[in-house]
Amino acid sequence: MNSVDFRPSAHFTLAEAMRSQEAVRHGIDNQPPRNVFSALTALAENIFEPVRDHFDIPFSPQSWFRCQALERRLCWTSFINWCKRRKREPDEESWAIYFDRKQHPKGCAGDLELPGISNYELAKWMRDNLEFDQLILEFHVWGKPTSGWVHASFVEGENRGEVLTIGRGRALEGLPDYD
Ligand SMILES: [Zn+2]
Repeated sequence: MNSVDFRPSAHFTLAEAMRSQEAVRHGIDNQPPRNVFSALTALAENIFEPVRDHFDIPFSPQSWFRCQALERRLCWTSFINWCKRRKREPDEESWAIYFDRKQHPKGCAGDLELPGISNYELAKWMRDNLEFDQLILEFHVWGKPTSGWVHASFVEGENRGEVLTIGRGRALEGLPDYD
């Protein structure tokens, strides 16, 4: 298939999958390769479309596919901390191991926010209604509905159903119980 003709799903486009202000700012070509097309479709059909349908709100993912150069720019601090925790040198060998675990570069993870919906409510609905590999409520502050975002991944194999809450310097299992 010509990449010009490829569309991940009915309401989500290839342009949305590759869109990144950071990539534009640094002249990075964030075009997804063909071998991630099926992952883009699986994520869009199993996560994005059901969310759009349930809330009846059109949205565009904040971040979806990330090529290696973009992931390097966006996740360098997280990589350095990952190395520190493992007492590894932050060299190319460590980067290769770190990078291999990342899901945005495989096309199977996206960050989303819905206009008018609290990110906590969004994460809760997704946790209770969707199949996913990982669901992470990131940098959300209780009382500030639009703070943070929801990271979700879906793999074309066995999905782990892992739920995490990540904030400044902490990662907790599950979602906080605000209700
Ligand atoms: Zn993410």
